[in-house]
Amino acid sequence: MRYVSTRGAAPVLDFRGATLAGLASDGGLYVPETWPTLSTDEIAALAGLSYADTAVRIMLPFVGDCLTEDELRGLCHAAYGRFSHVAVTPLVQLDHDQWLLELFHGPTLAFKDVALQLLGLLFERFLTGTDKRLTIIGATSGDTGSAAIDAVAGREGVDIFMLHPVGRVSEVQRRQMTTVLAPNVHNIAIEGDFDTAQALVKTMFATPALADTFALSAVNSINWARLMAQVVYYFYAAVRLGGPGKPVAFSVPTGNFGDVFAGYVASRMGLPIAKLVVATNVNDILHRALTNGDYSRGLVEQTATPSMDIQVSSNFERLLFDLGGRDGKAQAAQMAGFDADGAMRLTNAQQQGAAGLFGSERVDGDDMAMAMRWAHEKAGEIVDPHTAIGLAAARRQSLPDVPIVTLATAHPAKFVDAVERATGARPTLPARVGDLFEREERYVTLPATLAAVGDYVAAHARPSR
Ligand SMILES: *Cc1c(COP(=O)(O)O)cnc(C)c1O
Repeated sequence: MRYVSTRGAAPVLDFRGATLAGLASDGGLYVPETWPTLSTDEIAALAGLSYADTAVRIMLPFVGDCLTEDELRGLCHAAYGRFSHVAVTPLVQLDHDQWLLELFHGPTLAFKDVALQLLGLLFERFLTGTDKRLTIIGATSGDTGSAAIDAVAGREGVDIFMLHPVGRVSEVQRRQMTTVLAPNVHNIAIEGDFDTAQALVKTMFATPALADTFALSAVNSINWARLMAQVVYYFYAAVRLGGPGKPVAFSVPTGNFGDVFAGYVASRMGLPIAKLVVATNVNDILHRALTNGDYSRGLVEQTATPSMDIQVSSNFERLLFDLGGRDGKAQAAQMAGFDADGAMRLTNAQQQGAAGLFGSERVDGDDMAMAMRWAHEKAGEIVDPHTAIGLAAARRQSLPDVPIVTLATAHPAKFVDAVERATGARPTLPARVGDLFEREERYVTLPATLAAVGDYVAAHARPSR
């Protein structure tokens, strides 16, 4: 399996190369050269397989000869063995055709664990025994930081520097990062807000003194291996709801378009998906793009669903590339237009291609709270605000006699206050993370300057040869 950049001008890589590179050198994103497909019989044969064994069947064609099947199986069992539910991503039924797929049973209670737990192991597998080391630098407003830190803590060949804005992440989120004491984990509280931290990360990538010495890698960047790992749960859920004999629909709380793009990949691989609903909050650039072809940046509004407060959806480029005939030159030109103007139009081919599979909804704070109350009162389920956005969209877009599955992306205890405001119920942290408040914390606080943070990274990272 070979990987090509959406902008057509970066080297073609194998799976190992694409995993370690993250972003392509031409600014594009790596996608498989062709989509592998599963026959109806092959999909039907997934019924009854464990999550980890399903993952092996779905991911093997993407891995090519970079891992043997046994190696991949070992990694999947290690990654998913750390989840607190035997089913890894269990389904919960809400009413006749509304379902939840709970993706938050990983170590940091966020759906990002599903992909990052595997990615951490892949990094280690591909770096062990080489001179290469990765220095991961990221900024987080909460969830990505803890999931990435947990995934690479103690792993060989990788150091991680995670910047969070001092005082702007919740105590649970901060402790999930700062109580990880592995020597390759470096938490930095930045005296500034998230945008400042994010801008510092970008500056560090462009600073030769750092970029030439260390193999810098970004977790916020859009690593193909993360998406590949997310394709698995679409198959896993669909075969449990009658697939491939019956189509299933999914509703996906969306920010960077990664999770829902994985659903698109599942569909391209042959899984019968009746509809993929892209659910946004009031930051609705994707909803506008999918309803009338207008992909234009607005101002980010802060909401109760911070992981979806996004005005540029990096992974959308992968969809536009695939629907636009996989023309790297044309895709590069379309993205250059967007960078220059903050706006672009989808082509007819892109709009029509998307219309066949995608629905979209913009859900405001009131409708989000209403969905939380509905789940609580009608089905006795407490859902987090992000999941509630997806659920509200699912209830608007449901099709007769087709089960619709909302992806539940975070544990409600990560967002207790918003949940309590909407439902009156106060979810508690699961016992396994319950001693979070007793654990020792370790982090440094630095001014938001390149001099301070760059020096800190240079002093603590290990060069790549
Ligand atoms: C990251 C995240 C999302 C958005 O997922 P994308 O892949 O960026 O679309 C939704 N909900 C939660 C809780 C998240 O952490």
